[in-house]
Amino acid sequence: MTVELSTVYVGVGSNLGDKLHNCTTSLQKINQLPGCEVTACSDIIKTEPEGVTGQDWYANCVAEIKTTRTPFQFLKDLLAIEYDMGRVRTKRWESRIIDLDILLFGQAIMESDNLTIPHRLLHKRRFVLEPLVQLAPDLVHPVLNVSIRQLFNELPKESSAEVLKEET
Ligand code: ATP
Ligand code: CA
Ligand code: CA
Repeated sequence: MTVELSTVYVGVGSNLGDKLHNCTTSLQKINQLPGCEVTACSDIIKTEPEGVTGQDWYANCVAEIKTTRTPFQFLKDLLAIEYDMGRVRTKRWESRIIDLDILLFGQAIMESDNLTIPHRLLHKRRFVLEPLVQLAPDLVHPVLNVSIRQLFNELPKESSAEVLKEET
């Protein structure tokens, strides 16, 4: 039996505690999951919270992962890491120690109550596209059929984010 290996992009964010450390710790934990390897990580950048006011800034990055897990298994794994790191879910877009979103899972397209792939706001978020374009500029969004570079270039103009930690 051949096991399918998927290339997955995960958006990582933290705006509580030691934000940089939280981002790197979460990537170590993903790397330790069965059937998962973190193969690249973008710079970690400093961004302002979107959609809410009065919250602290975020550290954001995107990681590339090769995995034999299915999308639902992988979501479960990520939610367990968030929980394990002390994330408490209260209301939507609340400050969080760690947030791990599946942005793209190979060329998969799915929409269910608890998992939408590609992430439904991926193409609108600078804090996602700026790190993602470092890793996969030519990757084509399977629903919109345009490259990540194109999505990034089409964002409303704004200055680049400050780099907190360079890509590894
Ligand atoms: P946003 O989705 O706008 O970035 P959020 O990350 O703050 O918001 P959470 O509270 O972390 O939202 O997640 C709520 C639920 O979203 C998760 O429990 C999960 O079931 C669901 N979800 C749907 N699609 C995805 C995805 N692609 N990656 C991660 N979670 C997803
Ligand atoms: Ca999120
Ligand atoms: Ca999330």
